[in-house]
Amino acid sequence: MSNLRFQALQALAAGEDKKVAGYTEKKITTMFGSNVFNEQTMRGYLSDEAFKSLVNSAKTGTRVDRKMAGQVAAGMKAWAEEQGVTHFTHWFQPLTGTTAEKHDSFFTLKGDGTPVELFDGNALIQQEPDASSFPNGGIRATFEARGYTAWDPSSPAFIMEAGSGKTLCIPTIFIAYNGESLDYKAPLLKSIAALDKAAVSVCHYFDKNVNKVTATLGWEQEYFVIDETIANARPDLVMCGRTLLGHSPAKGQQLDDHYFGSIPERVFAFMQDFEQEAYKLGIPLRTRHNEVAPCQFECAPIFEEVNIAVDHNTLLMDVMTKVAKRHKLKALLHEKPFAGVNGSGKHNNWSLATDTGVNLLSPGKTPRTNLMFLTFFVNAIKAVHDYDDLIRASMASASNDHRLGANEAPPAIISVYIGKYLTDVLNEVETRVKEKFSEQDEVILKLDIHKQIPELLMDNTDRNRTSPFAFTGNKFEFRAVGSTANCGGPMMVLNTIMTETLKKFKADVDALIEKGEKKEIAILQVLRSSITQSNKIRFEGDNYSEEWAAEAKKRGLNNFKTTPEALSAYVTEKAKELFINNDIFTERELEARHEIMLEDYVKKVQIEARIIGYISANHVLPAAINYQNTLMENIKGLKEIGMAEATYKAQFNLVSVISGHIQNINDAVEAMIDARKKANAENDMQKRATMYCNDVKTCFDTIRYHADKLELVVDDKLWPLPKYRELLFIR
Ligand code: ADP
Ligand code: MG
Repeated sequence: MSNLRFQALQALAAGEDKKVAGYTEKKITTMFGSNVFNEQTMRGYLSDEAFKSLVNSAKTGTRVDRKMAGQVAAGMKAWAEEQGVTHFTHWFQPLTGTTAEKHDSFFTLKGDGTPVELFDGNALIQQEPDASSFPNGGIRATFEARGYTAWDPSSPAFIMEAGSGKTLCIPTIFIAYNGESLDYKAPLLKSIAALDKAAVSVCHYFDKNVNKVTATLGWEQEYFVIDETIANARPDLVMCGRTLLGHSPAKGQQLDDHYFGSIPERVFAFMQDFEQEAYKLGIPLRTRHNEVAPCQFECAPIFEEVNIAVDHNTLLMDVMTKVAKRHKLKALLHEKPFAGVNGSGKHNNWSLATDTGVNLLSPGKTPRTNLMFLTFFVNAIKAVHDYDDLIRASMASASNDHRLGANEAPPAIISVYIGKYLTDVLNEVETRVKEKFSEQDEVILKLDIHKQIPELLMDNTDRNRTSPFAFTGNKFEFRAVGSTANCGGPMMVLNTIMTETLKKFKADVDALIEKGEKKEIAILQVLRSSITQSNKIRFEGDNYSEEWAAEAKKRGLNNFKTTPEALSAYVTEKAKELFINNDIFTERELEARHEIMLEDYVKKVQIEARIIGYISANHVLPAAINYQNTLMENIKGLKEIGMAEATYKAQFNLVSVISGHIQNINDAVEAMIDARKKANAENDMQKRATMYCNDVKTCFDTIRYHADKLELVVDDKLWPLPKYRELLFIR
C-alpha cells in the first residue's frame, strides 16, 4: 500500500518522527524576557530623557514625540544588533485573525552607494505595509488603498527567532489612510483608555488616591497536538485545521482518562520547547496540563495588563505552531478539529486593577472596600445584561460555531454565574435597600454583607463549568471565547460595555447625591436597581441542559445560534451609540468591521465546502468504488464455481449499501455546489453569509454521514485518509 496514510503510519512506527529537538533546560528566571526590549533592558540603551519619555508614553498611552523616537530607535537597534538581528518588522494583528509581519533590513545604501545599517525614528513610528490585500470592509477601496502601521509604545518590542534568523518586532496598530482602524489592537487600546477614565471616576467614591485602572487578562489556551506526518495525510486538516470527515473511534473521551493524566513524552518535549521560546519573549506561562479529549492540552500564563496579554496570546499561538513543526507535530488551535470529542476554547479571565494595587473584583477586607467590590461586580453583571448580544457577537466565528451549543461548551445563550454566596449578597441588597433608607440601615447592611462575603471567596466559590461568563472569586471568566480567537475582540467589547455601564452608574449616583442623598446610600440605591434590572442574566444551573434553553427563552434572553445572526449585534442602533459615544468606532468603522467578519465567515465555509467536495470525489468515492469492484469480483467468482446464492448474500448486500452511500454523497456534493453558486451570486454580504450558513454548510452533515458510514465498511487497506484512532491515539 503506497498511499499517504500508510506511509505516514509506517514512518511513525519506525520512530522517524519521534526524534525531538534538544531542550536546553535553564532556570526560567534567567531566560525570562531575554528577547524583549523591556524597561530593564531599555535602561542600558536609552538616555534618561528617552527612557522617561518612553515609560511615560507606555503608562499614559500617549505618543512618543519624533525627537525621542529617534533616540529610542537607535537604542533598540543597538540592542537588537547585539543579539544578531539584521531585520525589523512592524508586527500587527489584522482582522484575518493571524499576525502579520513585513520584514525590512536595517541595511540600506547611502546616496553615494555606501552601505549602512539604519533604523530611524520614522521607521519605528510608522510604516506603510503594502497591505491592500488585508480585509478592510471597503474602507480603503473607497478612496485610496493605503494602510499604515503605527507603533504602540505600550507593548514592548521583541526579537522573534526563526531558525537562525532573528527579527526585531515592533508591536503596532494597523489603520487606514484616514485613521480608521483595520485591526484588533487599535480599538482595544481605545477601550482600555475609555475604561480607565470611567473606572477611575467611580473609584473616587471610595478612594481618591486611584489615578489609573487597567483591565487585566489571563487567558487559558486549549489546543490539540497530533503527529504531523499523519496530519499531513489529511487534506482537511492541512487546509482547514479541522477534520471534515471521520468516524468516531470506538474509544473516545468517555473514560475520562486523559484529563490531568500524565503528558506523553513527545508532547512534553514540545511543551518545554515552546515554553522556553515563550519565556524568552516575556510570556509568563505558568500552567500546563492535559485536557478532556485525547491529544488535547491547555496552557495558561500569569495574568497581565490586557493589551500585553492579548499580544502575548497572539504571539504564543504563532510560536506554538512553529515549534510544533520542529517536533514533527502539528498544533491544532481550531475550535473543533474532531467531531465527537471536546473542542477547544480560550477562557478569558478578566478583572480590573488600580494603580494602588487593588483588584476591583476581589472582595475587600473592610465593609468600605466591600462596597467598592460590590459596585464593580454589579456593574459588570449589568454590562453583560445590557449588551449580551455584543458579548455573543464578540466571540462569533465560523469555527466557534462548532462549539457553542454543542454539548460541551457554554451555549450561545449568554448568562452570568456568580455562585451561592454572592447570590445571597445581591438578594440582600435587593430586599433590604428601600426607598427610605437610613444611615443606620446602611451601616447594618454593610456589616451584614461584609460578614456574608468570605474573605477567601476564591476558594469558596463553587465552580460552574457550564457557564459562559462565570465569576471565579476575584475575576470573571469569559469561557465561551474560541481557541483561535484574537482575545482583542472580546476584550474590547467587554471593556467598552463596562465603560458605558460605569458612566451611567456614576451619573445616577451623582444625581441622587445632588438631591441630597448621602454618597454611600446613593450608591446602594443605584446598585439595588441595577441588580433588579439585570436579574434575568443570572443563571446558576446547568447551561448545557435543554431546560435552560427553554427557561432562557421565557426570560427573553437572546440565543443567536450562528455567526451571521450573532454578528448583527455590531450594527444595531444601540451598538452604534455605544461605540460612537465612547470613541471606539465610527459608524463607518463598525459597518466595515461587520462586513469583514461576515466575509471571513463566508470564506471559511467556502474553503471547507471545496475541501469536503474534493475529499469526497478524490478520496472517499474512489476507495468505495474500488472495494465495490473487489466485492463484485468475489461474487462473480463464487457464482462461477457454482456456489449457492446464500454464500454471496452478504457481499451482494454490501455492494448495494455502498452504492446507496455513493449516490447520497454525490447528490449532497452537487446540492452543495449549487447552493454555493447561488450564495456567491448574492451581493449583500449578510444574505450571502446566511446562505452559506443555512444552505451550504448544512450539506456537510449529509456528506459526512455517508462518508463515515463508508469508512466503517470499506476494506481498511483501501481507505486513504488516516482514521480518528490513528490521529488521536498514536503517539
Ligand atoms: P482555572 O480557571 O483553570 O481554575 P485559575 O483560576 O488558576 O485556573 O486561573 C486561570 C487564569 O486566571 C490564569 O491565567 C490566571 O492568571 C488568571 N487570573 C487570575 N487572577 C486574575 C485577575 N485578577 N485578572 C485576570 N486574570 C486573572
Ligand atoms: Mg478556567
